Amino acid sequence: SLTAKNIHLSFGSNHVLRGIDLHVPEGTTASVIGPSGSGKSTLLRVMNRLIEPDQGDILLDGRSVLNDNPDVLRRRIGMVFQQFNLFPHKTVAENVSLALRKLRGMSKEQAREEALEQLDLVGLKQKADARPANLSGGQQQRVAIARALAMKPEVMFFDEATSALDPELVKGVLSLMADLAKGGMTMVVVTHEMGFSRNVSDTVTFMDGGVVVESGHPEQIFTAPDTDRLKGFLSDVL
Ligand code: ATP
Ligand code: MG
Repeated sequence: SLTAKNIHLSFGSNHVLRGIDLHVPEGTTASVIGPSGSGKSTLLRVMNRLIEPDQGDILLDGRSVLNDNPDVLRRRIGMVFQQFNLFPHKTVAENVSLALRKLRGMSKEQAREEALEQLDLVGLKQKADARPANLSGGQQQRVAIARALAMKPEVMFFDEATSALDPELVKGVLSLMADLAKGGMTMVVVTHEMGFSRNVSDTVTFMDGGVVVESGHPEQIFTAPDTDRLKGFLSDVL
């Protein structure tokens, strides 16, 4: 499980996270929704320790990770962003195998074999020797997901993974994410895709102004919101 406890973070005088609690049991998917600027991306970055919180704790399997080497934690958490950040001059297989060689110390052959296996899982084995520029945006994002999965993370973070995609490409990436969720991956998914949030995630957390305003079962959140803030947000996005 992954737990964030009472996380506070300020950028200068901007108090961006104001006591965030999030608990993601093993094998479940938590979606995080909320307006622009509410602190969703910052929360993910604090939870994988790209940024240190001012206050609060982050627990993996019940143990605080704040005193561990951040690099160790980042290997346990795979991250997929809106921008795929693939290396343009490397092939798809090389993009996936790079971290396996650098961080896992695999041989070139071993890493390629592992990369091909991961590419097969995302349906792109046949593109192994192509360059990213010759793939669609949706395919590139699936490569980025394969690259993260190749590290065998315990938890996967997605930050608006489909927001940069053309509408017709969104479905393929969302269905891959849904497959991962069904396969028992522990995931935190920041998304504007309310269909995914409602139909795939186990819990929904609505953030606004750096606090969790409501959190609960998707059915509760989408059909019986408690607060005016969530009601207003849903009427804007649905
Ligand atoms: P969006 O839906 O637009 O992606 P978000 O919920 O992910 O929004 P964040 O990116 O977490 O929001 O930003 C929350 C607040 O923190 C904003 O006020 C933003 O300006 C501020 N912020 C984020 N990153 C930094 C940074 N590196 N330095 C200073 N302020 C930052
Ligand atoms: Mg964001």
